[in-house]
Amino acid sequence: MKTKIVLLMTAISVTGMILAGNPLLETYKTPHQTIPFDKIKIEHYMPAFEEAMKQHDAEIKAIVENPKPATFENTIVALDRSGSLLTKVSSPFYNLLSSETNDEMQAIAQKVSPLFTEHSNAIRLNEKLFARVKAVYDMKGQLKLTAEQQMLLKKTYDGFADNGANLSEKDKAIYRELSKEMSMLTLNFGQNALKETNKWNMLITDKNLLDGLPADVIDMLAMNAKKAGKTGWLLDLKATTYGPVMKYANNRDLRRELYMANTTKCMLGGEYDNLENIRKIANTRMKIANLLGHKSYADYVLVDRMAEKKENVNDLLNKLLVAYKPTAEKEYAEVQAYAEKNGAYFKVQSWDWSYYSEKLKEEKFAINDEMMKPYFELENVKKGVFGLATKLYGIKFIKNNTIPVYHPEVDVYDVIDEKGKFLSVLYTDFHPRDGKRAGAWMNDFKSQYMVGKTDSRPQITIVMNFTRPTETKPALLTYDELTTFLHEFGHALHGMLTKCTYESLSGTNVYRDFVELPSQIMENWASEKEFLDGFAVHYQTGEKIPASLIKKIKDAENFNTANFCLRQLSFGFLDMAWHSIEAPYEGDVIAMEKTSMASTQILPVINDVAMSPTFSHIFSGGYAAGYYSYKWAEVLDADAYSVFVKNGIFDKKTAASFRQNILMKGGTEHPMTLYKRFRGQEPTIDALLIRNGIEVTASK
Ligand SMILES: [Zn+2]
Repeated sequence: MKTKIVLLMTAISVTGMILAGNPLLETYKTPHQTIPFDKIKIEHYMPAFEEAMKQHDAEIKAIVENPKPATFENTIVALDRSGSLLTKVSSPFYNLLSSETNDEMQAIAQKVSPLFTEHSNAIRLNEKLFARVKAVYDMKGQLKLTAEQQMLLKKTYDGFADNGANLSEKDKAIYRELSKEMSMLTLNFGQNALKETNKWNMLITDKNLLDGLPADVIDMLAMNAKKAGKTGWLLDLKATTYGPVMKYANNRDLRRELYMANTTKCMLGGEYDNLENIRKIANTRMKIANLLGHKSYADYVLVDRMAEKKENVNDLLNKLLVAYKPTAEKEYAEVQAYAEKNGAYFKVQSWDWSYYSEKLKEEKFAINDEMMKPYFELENVKKGVFGLATKLYGIKFIKNNTIPVYHPEVDVYDVIDEKGKFLSVLYTDFHPRDGKRAGAWMNDFKSQYMVGKTDSRPQITIVMNFTRPTETKPALLTYDELTTFLHEFGHALHGMLTKCTYESLSGTNVYRDFVELPSQIMENWASEKEFLDGFAVHYQTGEKIPASLIKKIKDAENFNTANFCLRQLSFGFLDMAWHSIEAPYEGDVIAMEKTSMASTQILPVINDVAMSPTFSHIFSGGYAAGYYSYKWAEVLDADAYSVFVKNGIFDKKTAASFRQNILMKGGTEHPMTLYKRFRGQEPTIDALLIRNGIEVTASK
């Protein structure tokens, strides 16, 4: 420990000479040591990154060259503490790269990304460092570590071992080769999917063919044509075109044509074909797993998941399948009957499903965004959402105008706990801008950890792209925006309420299939009358949101829910099939897909179409053997929320238990252990079935 402090001091004094005046390298003198956005300029980043990596390297060197034998403190803890300057520099940079970016920032990101890869590889492949980590890991039985310390040790060790640190020299070389191949294959897969999507378009010159589409979509299609130097309406396969055509286009042939184009991408030969890529990716992943001592890639991935093993994932997927299928069949029959009543002389096919479903939904529920928006004025919603945290956890939000921000629209709050003690800083950034990417997310500017007995509290941000106020109207949110706010705020609570010792285990640093519990559980409040009554008043008349409207929201949410569930299950089964292979697969890709998804099929089967060739989530994103986690998290959040339903949705005791056992604990223990402490038992699917209006008898 001492060595490290001396070393840090030297580094700072050298920095002081070379890099004077770079605020990223100085101690922040702002309230709560928040980031001095008003002082940081773009040119500060690159030298700060370089200096921070240098310091990190020196810290690692100090750990490796420590003459004393490896201990938990001098190796595992020292490693967790190392790189703090790099985190400090990365935090504003990468947050702003998403929420307030520009060409210069992008250029720095391009430059710094290979440096990061090299930097982290050098640490991960440092054999002397791994030898020390392994030395501590091998004595773990004698060390009398707390649960949190055991977790940190396991996570640190796995970080090396899962990347081949334990292999022989020969196998290490094979591992590196396979990894290199994997990154090429997945990159290529993703690019093919994107390019094939972008390649396809269709010019329409007869406007009648677009009958049924909303006016703004037709305008967009005309604009697309104009941009391409054509007259008419240019259709493509992007979500903004494909979704509306499937939902609204009266012309069945048009729907069919787009559907077929979309579901045959990257599989008909041609330069962007992905069929061979799929086999190679699945087989290479299997080989990597084998090398690391696992039968299949799914076995390898699931070790560090709440689900733990394949059997548990398949068990969940199958239970849901059995429970939802009868309802899904009923839903199909209802849409079919509705279609026939409206002149359809055919069996409803995949390209008819959205179209007739949407019409039936309109008829049944007569509900749309415009009806709800007047009740969800942003300022009121903020009071409601913050107020919910006050009701549940006793925490309060006090605006702090002395904290620097990166854009005038950003607000900052001091969050204090029930005893008035400082808990966290919270930044909120609600509206779209040039330079902000789409979507909504939570992140931290600084995470929480303990130094000795001092609790270093976190700084959290939530970023959204909500409807902006206009000159005549305040910001009025849609119902989806309200639930998105609650979702991200749930992640924020996980970040703000955390109380752990080690940074790499605190807050949202949990297993991937557990991280959506704190966020998704919050969405449950969105349709609770008791909650909405507290803030959802008409922005002009002050009238409370009508109970009938809330009921409609709930009912409409469950419309065709079983079919939606089966669709998610089909992707889950497909993902598990590709990643459970225990021998190289050289067979037909489409056949593999049809077999794995067969049990979920409700709509008539269409031959020669497939999902796999464009399933980027699993073949080029981070969801390999992980697609199930969407459903897993839903089961968890419904099951956890059922405790609130039983004890009262504002019940302080239930909230205290959720805070104590889940929100405070980060990833310090196995999520199932934490969950059972809150729930008293393992989760079941029953609460989700009830929430979705599925007859529970069907699950037996
Ligand atoms: Zn989330």
